[in-house]
Amino acid sequence: MNYLGIDLGTTNSVACTVKNGKYAYINFRNKELLPSAMLYKDGKISIGSIAKRKATIYPTNYISSSKTYMGSNEKKWQIEDRTFTPTDVATEILHVIHDEAVNFFGNNDEIETVITTPAYFSSSQNAATAEAGKRAGFKVKQILAEPVAAAIAYAFDDLKTNEKIYVVDLGGGTFDVTLLEVSSNNEYRTLMKDGDNHLGGDDFDIAIYELMLSHIRQDIGVDLSTEESSELTPEAYSRARQKLLQEAERVKCVLSDAEEDDVSIMNLFPYRDGNYDFDMTLTRAAFMQAASKLVRHVENTIRDSLHNVGRSVDEVNRVILVGGSANMPFIREYVEEFFHKKPYSDKDLSKLVAMGAALRADGTRGDTITLHDIIAHSLGIEIVGDRFSPILIRGREYPCEEMKIYTTSHDYQEVVSIDVYEGEDENQIKNNYYYGGFQVDGIEKALEGIPKIEVTFSFDESCILHVKAKDRKTGVSGAKDLAIHFGH
Ligand code: ADP
Ligand code: MG
Repeated sequence: MNYLGIDLGTTNSVACTVKNGKYAYINFRNKELLPSAMLYKDGKISIGSIAKRKATIYPTNYISSSKTYMGSNEKKWQIEDRTFTPTDVATEILHVIHDEAVNFFGNNDEIETVITTPAYFSSSQNAATAEAGKRAGFKVKQILAEPVAAAIAYAFDDLKTNEKIYVVDLGGGTFDVTLLEVSSNNEYRTLMKDGDNHLGGDDFDIAIYELMLSHIRQDIGVDLSTEESSELTPEAYSRARQKLLQEAERVKCVLSDAEEDDVSIMNLFPYRDGNYDFDMTLTRAAFMQAASKLVRHVENTIRDSLHNVGRSVDEVNRVILVGGSANMPFIREYVEEFFHKKPYSDKDLSKLVAMGAALRADGTRGDTITLHDIIAHSLGIEIVGDRFSPILIRGREYPCEEMKIYTTSHDYQEVVSIDVYEGEDENQIKNNYYYGGFQVDGIEKALEGIPKIEVTFSFDESCILHVKAKDRKTGVSGAKDLAIHFGH
């Protein structure tokens, strides 16, 4: 049997194994990171950097960040003669990993894997990931939460019992923070999970891209902010945009280590009788200024995450940085200032999750881990005045159950609507996420405020929320089961 840990990332995937006590990575075209991207053209599937490269020529044949839709029954991509679901795309990426892993191991033994998924994934999203792994030819031993994998990569050798570990993961398109409690017998308990599923390295690329656009505007007066304003042909515009974005990402990574860098792109687009040559010096200070909104958002999320669940900074024993974008120095600086401790970041931040998965996958170790999980956002119902009444409060360990009593809002009301939402804004229901609802007909005929309607929320280990509403007097009731995904 061969053993492999797989970080199936939104932007990049990494596969790692432990060999003679050392980490070894599967290579994909000489790189240890496989871009989680797919392109389908003329009946042929390309994965990784080839797909990314071809995307500039065939943008409509390209699928990236499909992981954001994992487990969704609705999301499908129609390309040429085929339809792809998020599970199909994950399967294709895992197929490439499987093929390269077979080459790496040099035998035909089965490959047993541990695949990681975000902490907020529901059980159906995890099941879809496991299914993709199976279809790609792996024996899937376990689906492991990414922050737990990261913690394992650090804590494995020098684990002190009952440590609280705060994990900051800033990837390409997502930002997750998690507080874990690790106790003896390898028990991992999630105490808090928060973040933003629409914030990542890509947004920082855009900040640099915009600096580049204003440089061009000042230099020659050409405005590349839209195709129309650029007055370029669609092809020339999208080629220039793509080139600038690629350079923006490159320079962003350089600025994590250097204070400034130069960007030169020859023949960026047709200009006057020839071509425009782009040349610019970018400093880290100017980048941070341009990205100040994003920076503040990252910092505020970290700060509020503990406060929101009534935890304090002093409880945290160590902070771990994960994800390529956590290489940006401002994160380390902020963490040091806020937690009064240096974050652990000596390992390669892009590979940390895969390392932890590899340790878990390693079949030569017999121990198992258990994970206790919590509800990431409060769940409740809409009440009169467009308000939200939470029933299960975020941070609660599940499985769990809670009952609250509600009443009618006008006299002789016989029908009540139970509308289920997720979120934290009690004053404005519209700021919360709507999951679904039902009506109960046959409420006790009485003045407003008299009927007693019991609303019970029970959240099971598969992240299914069972909602039940019952009138105490008449006994009429209604119920609905909702699959909860915390990744909104
Ligand atoms: P994901 O978990 O989303 O698959 P990764 O953890 O691999 O993604 O992070 C990818 C992101 O990290 C990209 O936006 C990339 O530009 C960024 N990144 C990688 N290295 C650096 C660096 N040295 N400085 C800043 N950003 C970086
Ligand atoms: Mg990641």
